Amino acid sequence: MDWKVPLSDIDFGPEEIEGVKKVLTSKWLATGEVTARFEKEFADFVGAKHAIAVSNCTAALHLACHILGIGPGDEVILPSLTFVATANAVLYCGGTPVFADITDERNLLISADDVEKKITSKTKAITVVHYGGYCCDMERFVNMTRARGLFLIEDAAHVPGGYFNGKHPGTFGEFGCFSFFPNKNMTTAEGGMLITDDDELARKARPARSHGLTTMTWDRHRGHAYSYDVPTFGFNYRIDEIRSSIGLAQLMKLRPNNERRGFFASAYRRGLEGLDEISIPFKDRIGGSGKEKPSYHLFPILVKDEATRNLLMEHLKKVGVQTSIHYPPIHLFSYYRSTFQLKEGLLPKTEHVSKRLLTLPLYGTMEEEQVRYVIDSIKNFFGGK
Ligand SMILES: *Cc1c(COP(=O)(O)O)cnc(C)c1O
Repeated sequence: MDWKVPLSDIDFGPEEIEGVKKVLTSKWLATGEVTARFEKEFADFVGAKHAIAVSNCTAALHLACHILGIGPGDEVILPSLTFVATANAVLYCGGTPVFADITDERNLLISADDVEKKITSKTKAITVVHYGGYCCDMERFVNMTRARGLFLIEDAAHVPGGYFNGKHPGTFGEFGCFSFFPNKNMTTAEGGMLITDDDELARKARPARSHGLTTMTWDRHRGHAYSYDVPTFGFNYRIDEIRSSIGLAQLMKLRPNNERRGFFASAYRRGLEGLDEISIPFKDRIGGSGKEKPSYHLFPILVKDEATRNLLMEHLKKVGVQTSIHYPPIHLFSYYRSTFQLKEGLLPKTEHVSKRLLTLPLYGTMEEEQVRYVIDSIKNFFGGK
């Protein structure tokens, strides 16, 4: 479909094309020095000690759970209002996801109070998701997990380039996991990054990305090794040089593109604030503060009920505006319902919000007229106010 305003778009230019050309010409395509450079620059950018580039964020989440030793009988508390990958990673390890509710309608982030209530003797870790690019209350989560000897994993897929309490989101817990899928704030096509400040965790995670091998093909190519051992268990979660070269170019554009996202988020807020029929989650956090800078990954709005939401999405589609729902809650997916005996009513706030939620287009290369067009289209739907 040819959208007048797509949900998201990618800021590609000659930089990405040049980077890819260079890799193709070099004929070294598997993980090598371009990936090493991408890891170094990403680590510096977020202020993490270690960054391990992987094939996608789901792989990063799985590695985090695997290295922290999550297994059968272990519970991991996480939100339901997130992409299914956040929970699937726990299942890959045989662990049990325990879903916590959102805070409220203004703050769609996982509720620290509800998490606290759901901690049992089986709880091993908490995975927070910085939904939409707004960071969770990490002071609270760090204190909670430290006090109880739990691990803290951050699904930071939405928040590259963000800032919270003097740090980059993703650097508060044991592991931070980033996604470079094409609809995220920066992309490598498919791709992801696992970050940690802990030397020991990094020493374990790095080989697990490549079958647990002691040396990589790249080391052998450079004459650093002839053979290898497999002292630990691992996966093939490698990224490649083509994707890493795109990542290097995209990282350079992340800050200015997030600035533009923030500018458009403010324009949406100003344009929609007066409309009684909708409410804007995170409204007071748009624009940032001394304490935080969101990455403005999503612009979600809430309407009064599911029927209105579906009609509004249909109306916007007709006028060429693409919208989406972030997210259908995980605990109501049929696989999760049947596997973990979950029912509607488990998370009242998440369920109430997810039926009335829609996400408006937001991306760095948007035009102001496009934002204006979306606002006018919404106003027209509600009766030309
Ligand atoms: C996109 C996304 C993921 C998965 O990322 P992939 O790179 O596609 O594996 C995980 N969690 C959240 C919150 C996401 O938005």
